[in-house]
Amino acid sequence: MKPIVMFDMDGTLLDLAFDDLIWNTKLPERHAETHQCSLKQSQATLKAFYQQHNHTLCWYSSKYWTEKVGVDVLKLQYDYQDKIAPRVGCFELLKELKTQGYRCWLLTNADQAGLKLKLENIDLNPYFEVMISSEEIGYSKEFVEFWQILQAKHPFDPQYACLVDDTAPVLKGAEKFGIENLITITQPSSGRAARHVLELEYPAINHLTELLPLLEKMQNKDVDVKTA
Ligand SMILES: [Mg+2]
Repeated sequence: MKPIVMFDMDGTLLDLAFDDLIWNTKLPERHAETHQCSLKQSQATLKAFYQQHNHTLCWYSSKYWTEKVGVDVLKLQYDYQDKIAPRVGCFELLKELKTQGYRCWLLTNADQAGLKLKLENIDLNPYFEVMISSEEIGYSKEFVEFWQILQAKHPFDPQYACLVDDTAPVLKGAEKFGIENLITITQPSSGRAARHVLELEYPAINHLTELLPLLEKMQNKDVDVKTA
């Protein structure tokens, strides 16, 4: 049986360099302009906020950040939307999965406005039967509750599911829930060095088409178990 292939968006299908640019460079700049303070002060203020909210649903909400830091973060992302780009092998892989009849789901912690922005720039729509923002679920993917609620809305067998995601705490959450096949990404952002496979806790790919032989293997493993 073919597994359902679940994909994260930012850092997995799309280059995280865009998000790095927004959060690490452009937001501090605009924050400093808005509040008439030095870039250093803005960087320090934002860094403290980032650390406080990492991996919570707030972290992913542009509305929350807009209120918290007094900069329209969604508008900021629209101002630089021409920098949104797919990762290596993204469409090659998605087209091939479609041809081979795999069911693909897009599961993102980006809020609904952020998801809409990305889809307006990169047309992932034709390849996915389910597209979900964790804002809709009420929990981020790091939490088992996300997966429970997802399963209630869209029934699936975690034994026949594969999740590709660049964030280890998300893979941990999925693992706790029972998703059998977990894959990570060595270089989520083209602007940063690749992570070494040995420092990653899950099997990793870089070029997205490297997923294809792994999916084959997952299905062969089933056969082995059943005929053993
Ligand atoms: Mg990601």
